[in-house]
Amino acid sequence: MLAVVAAVAIAGASLVGAVPGASVVGAGDTPTYGDLSGQDLAGDIVGMAPTPSGNGYWLVASDGGVFAFGDAGFHGSTGDITLNKPIVGMAATPTGNGYWLVASDGGVFTFGDARFHGSAAADRKDPVVGMAVDPETGGYWIITSEGQMIGQGPVSSDPEPSPACRIDPVIAGAFSPAGAWLLTRPLVVPQPPPSATTSGIDGNSIAEQIRYAQACQTLDPPAVGSLLRPLSNSRVTSVYGTRLHPVWGVVQLHAGTDFARTGGSAGAPVVAADSGTVLAVDTRVAYGNMVVIDHGDQVATVYAHLSETSVEPGQEIRRGDLVGLVGSSGFATGPHVHFEVRLDGEPVDPLPYVGSAHAVEAPRRPVPVG
Ligand SMILES: [Zn+2]
Repeated sequence: MLAVVAAVAIAGASLVGAVPGASVVGAGDTPTYGDLSGQDLAGDIVGMAPTPSGNGYWLVASDGGVFAFGDAGFHGSTGDITLNKPIVGMAATPTGNGYWLVASDGGVFTFGDARFHGSAAADRKDPVVGMAVDPETGGYWIITSEGQMIGQGPVSSDPEPSPACRIDPVIAGAFSPAGAWLLTRPLVVPQPPPSATTSGIDGNSIAEQIRYAQACQTLDPPAVGSLLRPLSNSRVTSVYGTRLHPVWGVVQLHAGTDFARTGGSAGAPVVAADSGTVLAVDTRVAYGNMVVIDHGDQVATVYAHLSETSVEPGQEIRRGDLVGLVGSSGFATGPHVHFEVRLDGEPVDPLPYVGSAHAVEAPRRPVPVG
């Protein structure tokens, strides 16, 4: 075993708002050459790269500070540069005499014998999470959270794009002779949050839930007039669009259409607008008792303020099947069904989809909304 001298070089950054350092733990028979245990740093450690000999490594912090251990040499850092976005990863050159740092906006910084082959500032919609070097050629890939690998300079293989429906974000990647490894972290689907003041919070979490469930679908909106009205013999009591909220008195998007029966609709059957799979049956502060149905093609419908629900998550459902009963649970001023159509999670005006035979009727008397 070589004698190890930890040559630690700290970038020129203040330690105001310091974060705890990081430990390096050897797996298998790999020795470690030191780490940053017990040290306060200005930025989190976000990546590491080994030297070609395997007898040392670098660690990099989000502010661009580089820390060299073992036979790794210090070749500079971004410590004196004001970064637009944090550093998210690094990779060493095949000689071990230099390294690249990459920022979340795709910016690439070179040190030592590292050559600049290009950044990933354009042609990319997702944040960059790291980079991987081709040891044969010295080119590199810039890796995004979607698993996109953007080759720069000479690279010996061209990894297949990851599936377009990837839902678990990629957090790092590494070269393999046959392509690459991508490290992913399970996406945590947000639970219904407490929303004491706005139905928008409920709506946003419903959107995330739908997008997660429909990530592998392709958007194909339903034909105009092809959906069933969720409450028969009903009229529209509030249309989709921006309005003054009847309960909270604030201007916000009314993300759906409200249907009620003249003379009262409490307890009336609410039916599925089309066939599909029940995605969620929840009780939320604003929406009350609600059902979400996944119709495929990134189309979903939402039924809210129900007095009770009659379906279970995962249940296959046919057009016209009962999903629950009209009520006024959640933020509602009276019994009605609040009906939403969502395309890739985003609400759209439901009325064109539920048929021109059901024209919007002007309310003839004060009617419950919400
Ligand atoms: Zn409504």
